Amino acid sequence: MEGGAVRRRLAALGRGALDLLYPPLCVLCDADTASGELVCGSCWATNHPVRPPSCAICGEPYDAQIEGLFRCANCGDRAFDFEFATAGWLFTGAVRQLVHRFKYQRQLYLRRSLAELFRGGLENERIDLSEPWVFVPVPLHARKLRERGFNQAEEIARLAGEPFRIPVVPALRRTRYTESQAGLTRAQRLLNLDGAFALRRPAGRTRKELADRQILLVDDVFTTGSTVQECARVLKTEGGVKKVIVVTVARG
Ligand SMILES: [Zn+2]
Ligand SMILES: [Zn+2]
Repeated sequence: MEGGAVRRRLAALGRGALDLLYPPLCVLCDADTASGELVCGSCWATNHPVRPPSCAICGEPYDAQIEGLFRCANCGDRAFDFEFATAGWLFTGAVRQLVHRFKYQRQLYLRRSLAELFRGGLENERIDLSEPWVFVPVPLHARKLRERGFNQAEEIARLAGEPFRIPVVPALRRTRYTESQAGLTRAQRLLNLDGAFALRRPAGRTRKELADRQILLVDDVFTTGSTVQECARVLKTEGGVKKVIVVTVARG
């Protein structure tokens, strides 16, 4: 064995010994996780996958028996700049806790788990991964990025895209520091977001990077869709892209 391999082998042995002394604990409830997963089985069981039937645009799931594609009352006949939004999970249980810890407690090591959860939304029969996609993360304002240290959407996109070789193009910037959208009416949200996004500068280069590409717009949680709608609008009107699909880890 050459030196590097020996060191790696020793490191693996060391890790095994550490696991015996300190078995891996669930990051949410501190229970032992036999398999070395970050989250134990009973915490994982609190997750709810998004299952059909669901709204063809926003993905809102329904309990009723509905066949084929339909729109929920909220989407109705509204026009959107994205084709549809998809998420693998409802924003409850362990998914919700993981997103909160990742974002607000800055537990960056959770990004692999979140990228895995994110793939649940990506594996959608309406998305053909052999097409020329790029991931565009919903951007944070520079001030928020400094406060948090990372953009959660970009971290998730980079890891989730690896197996599919989908490149990440941070094509958007946030031009205004917007207040939280929580508690605002739809009209207020739209006003709050008006002019909040633009193409990353230099815009000409960004447009070139997006040319002939289809966009998977990435965020952690889809709530009302106002933010992703505004991002999709800018990508189409300023970026010249034809097709935007929204993919998030979870749906609120
Ligand atoms: Zn647990
Ligand atoms: Zn809908």
